[in-house]
Amino acid sequence: MLTICNKCRLQSDNLKKQLYKNVNNLFKKAVYICEIYFVYICKMNKTIFNKILFNYPLFKEKSLFGRYITLQDIKPIINNLDTNFSVKIIGKSFLDKNIYSIKIGSGKTKILVWSQMHGNESTGTKALFDVLSYFNYTKDQQNMQDLLSSITFLFLPMLNPDGAEMYSRFNAQQIDLNRDATDFKAPESRILHNILHSFNPDYCFNLHDQRTLFLIGKENLPATLSFLAPSEDESRSVTPTRIKTMQVIVGIYEVLQKFIPNQIGRYTDEFYPTATGDNFQKAGFPTILIESGHFYNDYQREQTRKYNFMALISGFMAISSKSQKANYESYFSIPNNKKDFLDFIYTNIEINGEKKIVGIRYKEILKNKKVCFLKEFIFLPSISGLGTNSFNNKQLSFSSINEFKKFITNKK
Ligand SMILES: [Zn+2]
Repeated sequence: MLTICNKCRLQSDNLKKQLYKNVNNLFKKAVYICEIYFVYICKMNKTIFNKILFNYPLFKEKSLFGRYITLQDIKPIINNLDTNFSVKIIGKSFLDKNIYSIKIGSGKTKILVWSQMHGNESTGTKALFDVLSYFNYTKDQQNMQDLLSSITFLFLPMLNPDGAEMYSRFNAQQIDLNRDATDFKAPESRILHNILHSFNPDYCFNLHDQRTLFLIGKENLPATLSFLAPSEDESRSVTPTRIKTMQVIVGIYEVLQKFIPNQIGRYTDEFYPTATGDNFQKAGFPTILIESGHFYNDYQREQTRKYNFMALISGFMAISSKSQKANYESYFSIPNNKKDFLDFIYTNIEINGEKKIVGIRYKEILKNKKVCFLKEFIFLPSISGLGTNSFNNKQLSFSSINEFKKFITNKK
């Protein structure tokens, strides 16, 4: 039995009322056909992304897991890609590691996607390999063939392999590649710049991770994904290139709101004169920045990865179907990121006879090739301003901990 949403039901009922004014058998038939049509459209709109998400475990790139993703992890996947994908080594990192490009599709519209320009931001890389796997999984389906005949994709799955190895934001020269878009001091920045001009994309996707501390909205839910249409100047002008970027973001937002409502934010659009996205936009290349963030208790970012994958797919579909001609102004109604999230709180701590509340925020470090979460202690004036979603719902009493004693001792 097909179901129909309220909006489509209303549309269908209105049409029926109009038609029944002059009812005869032929009209009844027409009404029936119209109703089926609306149910079908409704079903299509609702289920295409539901279906992709439902099938996600079947094509997810299972060999990638967790936060520490290096070139060694992605090399075997790249070497085993289907022959439909054209793989190239487009250059070498400062420490002579390969930087790969993967091309697929034959369409007129060109999309460039790169991930991990910050080495310790690996969620986009996992999502990107999920995309490749999804392309392969659905290669015989008509809608995938349509997508690949309308778009040519060029993926750069790890722009900063040295930083990835060190689990560092920077490259091996300690350069932030995302602040090197005018000086090109790093070989990795020059590679990206050359690819941009030789491939000449219609759209770019720049994949990053944001810290767990970002929250959104009145509900204070974690910012699982945040988006940015970077500014081209200090006055943050809404230029034709920014409008195109915003339209794609609005398209993605409309899809993802159904799956992670109120967990999608807008990143600050302050202008950074040496940042990649800002300079690409300025040069006329619409560049969608995606920041993967926290999902409750998902410190390995495996849930977030799934939604990052969905963001990419819905963005590609919006571009391919031209539905990105959406109202770009809705971009400004996406809530801004806030910086308040705590990983958990300790209540009932007594220091010098005074009751204190201490918030904990994790800091990630690499230890023996594993990402560890160190605790940073933050004294809080009260719990009332926090809101129930401002931390992972973990309140621990002093009696249940012992590391805090060490912390107090260290402080003295
Ligand atoms: Zn980043």
